[in-house]
Amino acid sequence: MAKYNKSLDRAYFEKKKNPKYDDGDKLTKCCKQSKYQKTMMKGNKEDWRLIEDHIERTLYDYTNTISVTPKFCNECDRFIEYISKINLEKTW
Ligand SMILES: [Zn+2]
Repeated sequence: MAKYNKSLDRAYFEKKKNPKYDDGDKLTKCCKQSKYQKTMMKGNKEDWRLIEDHIERTLYDYTNTISVTPKFCNECDRFIEYISKINLEKTW
């Protein structure tokens, strides 16, 4: 029973959920994001609402934040990161 002598790693469970899962090719070439994980997408209304909420909260919580830019991949439209513009002159 070779099956029981096998170590079970992340790839094993990903494959179990999705038979098409390919561990060697799990990241997009353009932005190195997981192809198999649901990520926020540019142009998705629901995702944009979450992004707006996040930015509004950030601006509210951190008064030295001037603005926040949500960055998306130009190739596949996946959300990558938030870039905050910070006012360094302003102290807490
Ligand atoms: Zn991409």
